[in-house]
Amino acid sequence: MKKDADNFLRSIISACGDAELSGIRAKSERITSEFVGDKVYFRGVIEFSNTCEKDCFYCGIRKSNHRLSRYLMSKEEIVRQAMWAFDNGYGSVVLQGGEVKDRDFIGFVVNLLSEIKKKSVKKDPKGKGLALVVSVGEQKKKTYEEFFQAGAHRYLLRIETSDPKLYSKIHPRNRSFRKRVKCLEALKEIGFQVGSGVMIGLPSQTIEDLVNDVLFFKERDIDMIGMGPYVVHKDTPLGKIYGGEWNSKKNEIFQLSLNMIAACRIFLKDVNIASTTALQAMNPAGRELGLMYGANVIMPIITPKEYRSRYLLYDNKPCIDEDALQCMTCLTRRVNSTGKEVALYEWGDPVHFSRRQAKTPK
Ligand code: SAH
Repeated sequence: MKKDADNFLRSIISACGDAELSGIRAKSERITSEFVGDKVYFRGVIEFSNTCEKDCFYCGIRKSNHRLSRYLMSKEEIVRQAMWAFDNGYGSVVLQGGEVKDRDFIGFVVNLLSEIKKKSVKKDPKGKGLALVVSVGEQKKKTYEEFFQAGAHRYLLRIETSDPKLYSKIHPRNRSFRKRVKCLEALKEIGFQVGSGVMIGLPSQTIEDLVNDVLFFKERDIDMIGMGPYVVHKDTPLGKIYGGEWNSKKNEIFQLSLNMIAACRIFLKDVNIASTTALQAMNPAGRELGLMYGANVIMPIITPKEYRSRYLLYDNKPCIDEDALQCMTCLTRRVNSTGKEVALYEWGDPVHFSRRQAKTPK
């Protein structure tokens, strides 16, 4: 069985040439339509803090990047952006930031979640308010519980790669792959809709690794996938040692990233899949192509303009000179150019989650 799945996934991920690629696109499109529908959901991303306790070798906001000035947006600013998203029909917002574990920070996030939930529910004739998504890294189970109780119902935590050896290559010694997996388990136990994903084009990463990444999502029953190409950041250790080789493999990495979207859609079927910003950092039409390969979620950045240049996880990040309104207009146009429509005033929960819930014994 494993062998069949392996071969099947390998054929999708390594597809190349016009005929093969249009074949996987068509198949992926059929499955998208059948299992999750043709609409595209917006998640407004508020990159509310770039302070981080972690030192990931690839990431521009790593602790040791001293060229960066650190910020934490105020509660008022964050709530304002979230309510802007609500007023513009976004079903959902993501609070994303570096990883910080102290009580003040956790209390701040909990407080924010309750406030945004309360305000948006009050304004919503349906009484549901915004769907709240959190992405602030590895936290204690108790902290995740607090987030959940405060109104969050989705959490994003990428595994980065499902290969423990490759994981240890791109992270400092004190980091544990096991711990990250444990966090994903804790989130699921609490009842979160769980999002994960990987970076594509890491040093020495093979097609087999990518096949295993998709199998990892399946085994772990992941509800939402956010994957994208690894993109160099020049002030990071990985960018420095691997930048040259990466540059020579850019086209291949970009295509692999699209093929991974198709592989996830065709193999996992009913999950939500994001067409990520990193795709657009490599190709101006990257996010449209992501939708054409099977993604059904787009995450417009709604961080105020003045903070955007300080949340650069990688070089060439698009949209840093734009504000939330410009991003909305631009992304709506991009979605429409693929023949799809943006679903407004809907949460767009992953179909996979309801199926998973229905299967779980009460
Ligand atoms: N601190 C949080 C969220 C912020 S980082 C967390 O740890 O989950 C969000 C994601 O950005 C990471 O999971 C990683 O997959 C991605 N990322 C970071 N640096 C990147 C790079 N150089 N290229 C592509 N993606 C990157």
